[in-house]
Amino acid sequence: MTNSLKDTLTQALDGEVTDSTEALAAASRDTSLFTRTPSLIVSPKDTNDVVALVKEIHVAKESGEDVSVTARSGGTDMSGGPLTTSVVVSFTPHMNHVVEVGDDYAITEPGVYYRDFEKETLTKKLILPSYPASREICAMGGIVANNSGGERTLAYGKTERYVEELDVVLSDGSTATFKALSKDELEEKKKLETLEGDIYRKMDTLLTENSEEIEARRPKVSKNSAGLALWNVKDTATETFNLAKLVCGSQGTLALWTRAKLALVTPKEHRAMLVIFLSNLDILPEIVSKVLVQKPESFESYDDKTFTLAVKFLPDMLKQMGFAKAARLGIDFIPEAMMVATGGVPKMVLMAEFAEATIEEADKKALAAREALADMPLQTKIEKDEKESEKYWIVRRESFSLLRKNLHGLFASPFIDDFVVPPETYSEFLPKLNNILAEYKDRFIYTIAGHIGNGNFHIIPLMDISKPENRKIVLELGPKVYDLVISYGGTTTGEHNDGIIRTPYLTKLFGEKMTGLFAQTKNIFDPLNIFNPGKKVGGTFADIERDMIKKN
Ligand SMILES: Cc1cc2nc3c(=O)[nH]c(=O)nc-3n(C[C@H](O)[C@H](O)[C@H](O)COP(=O)(O)OP(=O)(O)OC[C@H]3O[C@@H](n4cnc5c(N)ncnc54)[C@H](O)[C@@H]3O)c2cc1C
Repeated sequence: MTNSLKDTLTQALDGEVTDSTEALAAASRDTSLFTRTPSLIVSPKDTNDVVALVKEIHVAKESGEDVSVTARSGGTDMSGGPLTTSVVVSFTPHMNHVVEVGDDYAITEPGVYYRDFEKETLTKKLILPSYPASREICAMGGIVANNSGGERTLAYGKTERYVEELDVVLSDGSTATFKALSKDELEEKKKLETLEGDIYRKMDTLLTENSEEIEARRPKVSKNSAGLALWNVKDTATETFNLAKLVCGSQGTLALWTRAKLALVTPKEHRAMLVIFLSNLDILPEIVSKVLVQKPESFESYDDKTFTLAVKFLPDMLKQMGFAKAARLGIDFIPEAMMVATGGVPKMVLMAEFAEATIEEADKKALAAREALADMPLQTKIEKDEKESEKYWIVRRESFSLLRKNLHGLFASPFIDDFVVPPETYSEFLPKLNNILAEYKDRFIYTIAGHIGNGNFHIIPLMDISKPENRKIVLELGPKVYDLVISYGGTTTGEHNDGIIRTPYLTKLFGEKMTGLFAQTKNIFDPLNIFNPGKKVGGTFADIERDMIKKN
């Protein structure tokens, strides 16, 4: 990076431009296995600053400089999405306003933390139901750019369903608003002699000429963040064309978004939770299919190791809460502490939560689900009060954070952290997965948590990453697990996205032709490869090897 780019950007922008050692170090990590130290951090004050930044980068790139821009919002990505050795554009310092909350939507900037966004939407009793488990630490920028999902995705779908409009800065520094266009509106856009017009012309042709391939490659599982969502652009029911649906989930590789209009929902008010304590995983597929009949709003799970860690770190978790809540939860957790002390920890805890307009309706569903399991060898419990179910939610939501605590020098290593398989394949898939993982039982321990109702598993190995032989496991085990997942019609990532860790698997998942279409799409939006290079298109296994963290 030349000094002149820093000077040019400092002059061109109202926001800050820094290359201080602390700022670069902070932006060199997310929550993935990787580190990349950027050369500059830019904190734009507004969209004009983002435009000025991209224009300068465009000029520098055209004149042969090796520069690019990578967006960062909360920086909680688990795939390496916001990491770069070039320029980071950081949205949380200034572009952090909720612009409007309407009757069924909100307009927001990317740098708003979800926790603050929800405070605003709740003033109208509305929420974005696709919020992720990282809701306290992540921001809207990544929720949209990763196409995040979470505990309510089973009932409400992922963020792609709620993104209506995106104001974006394109790769030449021009701006556009992507939203649903009728046929006539699309034809008007195609007449524009700008990059926006070019994108509409070329994308319409690409989508039309390859419609069969794209439809054939549409993910068959209920959630997916892998690849570029070409299958989402044309809505056949409404006969509209919406590029916002493609930018959603594209990890900042096609455009930078500066304002989003997101649809919101009114959550159902009453919840009852059926908690299932399972000691024999062989009956898991049958349990899942029986419980799903009652249409839970959430169906989540965590394993014995997560359970034990939660008890171990209970004092730490309680410290972050007020005294009254901590005291109540401390008492609530006594049975769990006893289970750990006596070795009676269940292999897996499943939480099926039913949400309805009245507590009677919610309870009725939980009871029906419980009855359907009555003759199976397991323990169940119904929690009718949100205070009673809270402890289960705390363990589930904290499952990854628990791993990131200092566990005797072991590093929580997400590389098979988010695959999805159709739940009806569990009985065949899970024993095969166990066999693969069993080969590594002396080399690392791992926890499993996830969205069991969606078939979405979060497996996080805990490893001493400072040892080269352990780092090798990442590239040895990853392909084995993903081959199996793909052979059962699954996807490599349901919500955490591709980033550095999964981009190299896209050809395996989607085939040569479809990944060729991803490359063409990238080239249509970003011909100079300015936005977040190496993610979605062009990333390699050598990138994984080179940029993996080398100490715990
Ligand atoms: C404890 C924990 C639990 C998690 N649970 C979940 C979960 O349940 N579901 C889930 O989906 N994820 C989960 N994640 C991963 C991550 O938190 C989410 O994907 C989150 O939505 C990322 O938001 P962020 O603002 O932190 O994104 P960042 O890390 O800042 O960025 C993520 C990606 O979005 C791009 N981006 C950011 N802002 C913009 C913008 N304005 N324009 C274009 N591109 C942009 C970045 O370049 C990057 O590629 C979890 C992570 C942790 C640490």
